Amino acid sequence: MADQRRDVVIIGAGPAGLGASVYTGRALLRTAILESRLVGGQIIEAYDVDNYPGFPEGIAGAELIDRMVAQAQKFDVEVVNSGAEDVSVEDGGLKRVHVSGGDYVAPIVMVASGAYHRRLEVPGERKLSGRGVSYCATCDGPFFRDRKVVVVGGGDAALTEGVFLTRFASSVTLIHRRQGFRGRPAHLAEAQENQKMEFVLDTVVTEVLGEERVEGVRVRNVRSDQEWMLECDGVFVFIGHDPNTDYIADLVSLRPSGYIDVRDEVFTDVPGLFAAGDVADETYRQLGTSIGAGTRAAMTAERWLAEQGWQSVASGESTEGDARATPAVMPGPLHIG
Ligand SMILES: Cc1cc2nc3c(=O)[nH]c(=O)nc-3n(C[C@H](O)[C@H](O)[C@H](O)COP(=O)(O)OP(=O)(O)OC[C@H]3O[C@@H](n4cnc5c(N)ncnc54)[C@H](O)[C@@H]3O)c2cc1C
Repeated sequence: MADQRRDVVIIGAGPAGLGASVYTGRALLRTAILESRLVGGQIIEAYDVDNYPGFPEGIAGAELIDRMVAQAQKFDVEVVNSGAEDVSVEDGGLKRVHVSGGDYVAPIVMVASGAYHRRLEVPGERKLSGRGVSYCATCDGPFFRDRKVVVVGGGDAALTEGVFLTRFASSVTLIHRRQGFRGRPAHLAEAQENQKMEFVLDTVVTEVLGEERVEGVRVRNVRSDQEWMLECDGVFVFIGHDPNTDYIADLVSLRPSGYIDVRDEVFTDVPGLFAAGDVADETYRQLGTSIGAGTRAAMTAERWLAEQGWQSVASGESTEGDARATPAVMPGPLHIG
């Protein structure tokens, strides 16, 4: 495939990438979004999104994504089912995004490749995901009012989210595979003092039980090998997230946690390469914050291109061909303003 020239290439068709594309497409910037898996990102796993403004009755994540895709396509955004394998910067500042079978070339690349929450990888977990298995207390905690829930993990997320869940649940049983906790002592103390919290230590979850909804978990003590069943209505898994940065780790700076190191929320250390959403946010990881970051990245990119005097590839030029042979669209080296 010949080089595909665009004004903006967005990596990842989750809420951050789709949200950004509505802005760039509407600003008449020729935009392609690359997606390596299912269009929609993490939120398509959510059966009911209850905390996104504008939908008082709630909305399924998949439906919300269908609407976002339709809105992006209304502004001529192309959604391409190909994953970015590598990104490099050419002389003059153009970015080259390698996908299987060819390259996309653009002055702006937005990294919106999100993060994956780690799973327990036990029987029943995937089947009951969104039916009692959750990875987000802020998103799903209010659905468990006066219910019994189990929290799995031993870090700060498990401790603080466990305490948060006591606002709703009748009891929160925290299951951790060791005696010691990785979380901060203050968070551990707060959890231990909470009357609604119980701790089951040196123990792992081996199965999530239930047909239509979670009914319990099977657990095993790692010292005695004793197994038993714990009844519960919900299982919240907090054993970490992995940001999707492998393909770009050689180009941009990452924080020690592996998330992209951004300045002023969207700037990476590569001019013209912006990051948005969960891939650069280890703190909030929400739909609203991701879309907000996508919006900021898109508006920043538009202004940045205008400052560079960039002439859109939409204004007459062919979008195929060797980008290095078409200097007319590139008035000069790109410099950050
Ligand atoms: C089960 C579940 C329920 C949730 N419920 C809620 C809720 O109710 N409310 C709420 O506010 N938040 C919720 N969240 C969190 C919310 O879904 C995320 O914060 C949000 O999806 C992050 O958006 P994003 O676009 O930054 O990243 P993601 O959603 O992670 O999307 C990134 C996309 O990039 C793709 N990608 C990765 N690598 C590449 C590559 N190399 N090339 C091309 N594409 C790539 C991925 O396949 C993915 O589609 C939930 C999350 C989960 C898992």
